[in-house]
Amino acid sequence: MKTKLCAHCQTEATTLYRIQTPAEGKGWIFVCESCCIKAKARPSYRYGGTWQGYRH
Ligand SMILES: [Zn+2]
Repeated sequence: MKTKLCAHCQTEATTLYRIQTPAEGKGWIFVCESCCIKAKARPSYRYGGTWQGYRH
């Protein structure tokens, strides 16, 4: 099972969410579920799909 680190809280997770927020500036970042929920509260949040380590 593969894992990635959350770009916000550095927590290792097997499921991350590809998002874009103005705070991060350019490009997409991968965040864990709890950070994704926080990011959703922002108006300019964009969702770009889910990454799941166990499918690889
Ligand atoms: Zn996180």
